[in-house]
Amino acid sequence: MTELGSCPPISQPLSPSALEALAACPFCFLAEKLWHYKEADEPEEELSALDKGGLWHTLLATFYREQLDAARKAGRLVACLDAGQKARYLARLRDIAKQLLADAPARVFVGPPGLWNLQREQIEAALEAWLNHELFLCSDKEKAFHPAEVEFSFGARSSHRVPPVNVPIVLPGEIGGHDSQFSPSGRPRMTELGSCPPISLTYVLPLEGRLDRLDLRLDDPDSAQPLVTAVRVLDYKLGRSANHKDDVKEEVLSALLAAQLPVYLKAAMEFVKALETQKRVRVDWGKVWQESQAAYYCLRDIPSRLRGKKPALLAILKWPGPDLRAFLSGDDTIAAGSLFDAVRTKVLEMLQGHFPVHPPECRSTSCAARFVCRYQAVPAESDTGEGGRKRGGS
Ligand code: SF4
Repeated sequence: MTELGSCPPISQPLSPSALEALAACPFCFLAEKLWHYKEADEPEEELSALDKGGLWHTLLATFYREQLDAARKAGRLVACLDAGQKARYLARLRDIAKQLLADAPARVFVGPPGLWNLQREQIEAALEAWLNHELFLCSDKEKAFHPAEVEFSFGARSSHRVPPVNVPIVLPGEIGGHDSQFSPSGRPRMTELGSCPPISLTYVLPLEGRLDRLDLRLDDPDSAQPLVTAVRVLDYKLGRSANHKDDVKEEVLSALLAAQLPVYLKAAMEFVKALETQKRVRVDWGKVWQESQAAYYCLRDIPSRLRGKKPALLAILKWPGPDLRAFLSGDDTIAAGSLFDAVRTKVLEMLQGHFPVHPPECRSTSCAARFVCRYQAVPAESDTGEGGRKRGGS
């Protein structure tokens, strides 16, 4: 690939899920994201998992947005639930759900009335368990995190006006020239045009996305300028934690196969930095780097976890490299083995036209490239020693 101007990933932001696709199987990424191969969706017989997930996301975001509005009016940055108000919260949740579910058939395919009624009942019955779980999560006042943002977006399309997560990419000599340096503005920079080659070309790859929930742990939530001691990002999942247990493993994170939570946490850290600059918070960065968390919030696990008094959160327990700070490095230096280092490696391979098939991560039946894939014809990357994993559902 030599015409850099015609390469979409150079000129357009990438989402964390696009990064995961690139890391999982570059040839599939080429077909789906660059060539835009797409197959018609199979017709659904009932409310699809995607639409059901959308309903849950809207419901929970609406509830917490209202709580956050009330908190902001009271001068607080986060929404702290009060167990004494449980009946009021539950009534409001049920009202929101009633309205959303009544509107759903006009917006999404919900299938025959019998199946739809069953889906509605399941959602309505799960509301109280979710609320109990939320109250349980914030019952330890010292350690509790509280929502500060919901449906938090970063990047050019951010409704929060939060900039993208920028990854500096230095193009190697055969693409952009030798001795490349980052431009301070992050824009492509060409030097020594008169003696071309070499041409130095560097650019910043913007990552953008939207995370379900950004929570903060504050020492003094009622203070005018509270102290942040930890950050937590949550990604709601309809399924069970068993479906995502691989996604929190160190080797999967460092291979960029589960890029969402790390990129979201990086965006959340940038957001906290901006709050600190605006003097809206004070930040104990030592604690923040040690105690911050990223987790999948597995909604189907809630009933069983509540019985065992355990949270239904599948958290990343060990970050690749020495610590979280090193893994998310990238402001001044990019540590070897860090998130940005992995992104840079994958993007450079792509720019050099390296789009191998990667059968260990094969999505086979759902991959749009399966009919033109060289899967059978070339050695698998696993033959060269790379490992793979089974991909989990949502
Ligand atoms: S069929 Fe599998 S190996 Fe082939 S491109 Fe698609 S995901 Fe990759």
